[in-house]
Amino acid sequence: MIHRVLPLILPILLLFLAAYLLISTGAFHWQDSAVRTTASPAKRKVIILLVDSLIAESLEQLVRRHEVPALAFLLQKGAYRRDMISSFPTMSVTIDSTLLTGTYADQHRIPGLLWFHPDEQRTVDYGDGLRVVWKPGPFQWLSDSFYRLNQQHLSKQTPTLHEELAARGYTSASINGLLFRGPRTHHFGIKAVTSLKVQGPDLLALGGVAKITKQALPDGPFRSMGMNNDYTAQSLIALVKEKRLPDVTLAYFPDMDGELHKHGPASLEGVRKLDQQLQSILNAFGSWEEALDRHVFILTGDSGVTATHASKEAALIDMEQLLSGLSFYRLGTQKKPENDVAVAVNGRMSYVYALSERVSIQMFIDRLAPEKRIDLIAWKDQEWIHVLRDGKQLSYRTGGKELDEFNQRWELRGDRDVLKLEARKEDGKWFSTAYPDGLRRLHSALHSHPGRFLICTALPGSEFAADGAPNHPGGGNHGSLDASDSFFPFAVATNGPIPEPPRRVVDVKAYILSLLTGT
Ligand SMILES: [Zn+2]
Repeated sequence: MIHRVLPLILPILLLFLAAYLLISTGAFHWQDSAVRTTASPAKRKVIILLVDSLIAESLEQLVRRHEVPALAFLLQKGAYRRDMISSFPTMSVTIDSTLLTGTYADQHRIPGLLWFHPDEQRTVDYGDGLRVVWKPGPFQWLSDSFYRLNQQHLSKQTPTLHEELAARGYTSASINGLLFRGPRTHHFGIKAVTSLKVQGPDLLALGGVAKITKQALPDGPFRSMGMNNDYTAQSLIALVKEKRLPDVTLAYFPDMDGELHKHGPASLEGVRKLDQQLQSILNAFGSWEEALDRHVFILTGDSGVTATHASKEAALIDMEQLLSGLSFYRLGTQKKPENDVAVAVNGRMSYVYALSERVSIQMFIDRLAPEKRIDLIAWKDQEWIHVLRDGKQLSYRTGGKELDEFNQRWELRGDRDVLKLEARKEDGKWFSTAYPDGLRRLHSALHSHPGRFLICTALPGSEFAADGAPNHPGGGNHGSLDASDSFFPFAVATNGPIPEPPRRVVDVKAYILSLLTGT
């Protein structure tokens, strides 16, 4: 998702992090206790393999070519959907929050990887797990990435999968998941120097910071401090071999995302490597069939990836140029009285904030609308959402008489083609193939946090640039509401009957609970 490395500072920060780890190796939290007895043991344990940026075309292509036996096995043994609908913006922290809470950003309150926090008066920047060293510095980054994300910003009103499992007497684990809030207290950090108390599931693995096995793991500074597929696979294998698997395990595989940002969505190498890791995991059960006898495997991506134009000029929408002359808030600082505008780039989506009375949303719209590579511009006015595309406008609000395909009620005014809404022949319900669940997802992002702001998205091939945001000309990116960023593959594999998977990631949490409880 993010590769914002400052080449000059990087070696120094890596040394710092290496020292930090060496000093503290003995003090990091390690959990070897068996998880507590399950009150009502599940018949089949669930293992969620969450693969960042796994895309259906690559997966299916390699399955057809017989190059990925483990993935082919999982796809053949149950239900497969190639068009699961993501959250919005299509960025991992927002999507994973949706997966874990079963709500969109208007309820879980994680608006994106970057967003301007009105109470903290600064742009929150969750970074990309432990993969990169971060512009505002490692302390800010560690606390934003994991502490604030899980313990402060993620709404307490939306219980996570781990919390709901515990309430029903089930146990769970999270391995390298970015979102992991759960019922049990864990301690991160160096005892007597600094320690962060966090709430996680029964078993919590997070790179070098928290481990669930004593065995050596690839978690050094040159292996992204453990935020890599090998660490995740080896930790999961350890749980299997030591017979410590809880009822539900969420294992997050981060590697593919960076590869597809760099090389674009057509790159296949990440899927081949993933398959080798999955082979090792399946082997740990004795045989692959045995693995499916007593377990349900869920293999899931989180968003699509759209190819970015190779030419920098064609690819990058320079927000600082489009809004030139205004005083920009800068990432890593506190807002200053003279600041007029903050731009929080989320790949192919951007939040643009009016920070002073000198500027207005209308002023931003006038500046941004002429840019041909901007697809949608959306803002809210009281309960109404307004969306502009190609000079046409749609306005809508919740309630009303119109139903969409997910039975959500709307009042619609203006040009429905703005979100490419079509009425279903059989019942007249609105759907959009171009912007799947677009009304709801856009509404959720505009209600995800307070503030005067608009949202814009980029046409395929383009992405936003501002304030040192990472860009990927010649590679790929996501973030937008477009189908190319929104659809991802989802497979459920087991020996035995399984219910049909839902169509949207927001419905996956309820689906997982139903697998355990049979309701
Ligand atoms: Zn990404």
